[in-house]
Amino acid sequence: MGRVARRYIAGETLEDALAAIRRLNAAGAEATLDVLGEFIRDFSEAEATARGYEAALDGIHAAGLRSNVSIKPTAFGLLLDEARCAALIRGLAERARRLGSFVRLDMEDSPCTDRTIAMCRAFRAEGLPVGVVLQAYLRRTERDAAALAAEGVPIRLCKGIYREPAEIAFQDREEIRANYRKVLRILLAGTAKVGIATHDDALVDDARAALAELKVPRERYEFQMLLGVREPLRDGLLRERHPLRVYVPYGAAWYGYSVRRLRENPALAGHVFRAMFGG
Ligand SMILES: Cc1cc2nc3c(=O)[nH]c(=O)nc-3n(C[C@H](O)[C@H](O)[C@H](O)COP(=O)(O)OP(=O)(O)OC[C@H]3O[C@@H](n4cnc5c(N)ncnc54)[C@H](O)[C@@H]3O)c2cc1C
Repeated sequence: MGRVARRYIAGETLEDALAAIRRLNAAGAEATLDVLGEFIRDFSEAEATARGYEAALDGIHAAGLRSNVSIKPTAFGLLLDEARCAALIRGLAERARRLGSFVRLDMEDSPCTDRTIAMCRAFRAEGLPVGVVLQAYLRRTERDAAALAAEGVPIRLCKGIYREPAEIAFQDREEIRANYRKVLRILLAGTAKVGIATHDDALVDDARAALAELKVPRERYEFQMLLGVREPLRDGLLRERHPLRVYVPYGAAWYGYSVRRLRENPALAGHVFRAMFGG
């Protein structure tokens, strides 16, 4: 039961997630934990999400595991009440700072882009350990990357998973790849750590070339992949001794949901993450 979902989602409980992280750490990978929530209608749900993340940070620390956390600002109420959302995330980031951890602000669809970047900047100005995500499909990303790299903000670069209009986003696969390559070089030329989040062989090959060409030290980058996706590629990078972090989602609501969906149609496995990111 749930074998397919279990491949992409660590399970229902924090214990399940910690067990998955323990296995990844033993294999030489780090992790970033994502507590899956339902679509938020009420601010009390954002507060519950924040409590779930606090428990996750404490659990990771108590178990001595190598993992930080990734959060979606809308799950903290970004679209309901921006000030209260910022206060909740600040609380989590302060806890992360005390525990020597880090909070990654995932990037959602374009109405969230400016607000998410602004929040990240504000928290960094307060000395909090946060970073943000840039999406190579957005036309604005080259500009954002140049500015954020100059400010020393840690960035994860991904292609982007939401459906965005052509006025603001490249639609063509090759254009998105070309922008990814260009933006990656801008980020690698900066000073902060860069998360190279992709399972695309062409982009992984290009990243390997850029890392060698720019002589980027190990502490300045990491590859990032989703749990259960393209494990042979991930294992190859680990064998080459590249730093690598795996994105580990867990949570009761989603586990049940995806088990149901995958039972109905196992071909949906590849779409679990698309749905999870709301795209
Ligand atoms: C660590 C991490 C964090 C991310 N965070 C964000 C974020 O904050 N915001 C955002 O918009 N997007 C995020 N994404 C998603 C990202 O934007 C892409 O949609 C996703 O990674 C697919 O793009 P790709 O570069 O792997 O290339 P693709 O060309 O889409 O995939 C390359 C190959 O990888 C395999 N593959 C890729 N994804 C999956 C999957 N889900 N299930 C099964 N097989 C798959 C397929 O074999 C595919 O042919 C994240 C991705 C990763 C890896």
